[in-house]
Amino acid sequence: MMQGGKIVLASNNAGKLREFSALLADFACEILPQSAFSVPDVEENGKSFIENAIIKARNAAEISGLPAIADDSGLMVEALDGEPGIFSARYAGMHGDDAANNQKLLEKMAGKQNRRAAFVCTIAYLRSPNDPLPLIATGIWQGTIADKLSGANGFGYDPLFIPDEYSQSAKTSAEISKEEKNKISHRALCVKQFLQMLKNNN
Ligand code: IMP
Repeated sequence: MMQGGKIVLASNNAGKLREFSALLADFACEILPQSAFSVPDVEENGKSFIENAIIKARNAAEISGLPAIADDSGLMVEALDGEPGIFSARYAGMHGDDAANNQKLLEKMAGKQNRRAAFVCTIAYLRSPNDPLPLIATGIWQGTIADKLSGANGFGYDPLFIPDEYSQSAKTSAEISKEEKNKISHRALCVKQFLQMLKNNN
């Protein structure tokens, strides 16, 4: 990747902007939110995390004229054929209603023996809107779905997700510290893979 260049982040979330800026510090590039170019949100009409990350990054690259990064993440549950998947944020209908999403998941999992699940994170980086080979990184965090909510840290489905690293104590990812989560999560793994790809793909 061009050192010292500007990159657009296809998100207006201040937390994500800080996180990506810190992670890419080695590349001495400037990460700008898509709001700096009045990029409107695009419809995420892909069928996979990867397609949606590409759709978001391409939209930002097209409008800003700069290289762009986007991420997409969610929860996949084996016994539900991968649900909630790309609908993780809006599983119960309203975008970002964590309590309703968790309630719906618990109901769908009632009586299920197989409770295997994974958090997934993808990152897409497009050098230009027509980049024929975007860089795609993925991170997968394996675990199981608890039968009740526990813990107040984190967000989203964290109170129902027991990472395999904590299967003995049956702690959810809402019961571990932010520092611990940031070392082992799907997002941490994805970013690590992405940085490796950037280093290999100037
Ligand atoms: P995104 O912001 O479009 O990537 O949507 C991600 C959705 O997946 C969130 O709204 C959460 O419901 C879920 N999700 C992704 N990562 C996590 C996590 O680390 N903990 C809990 N839920 C997550």
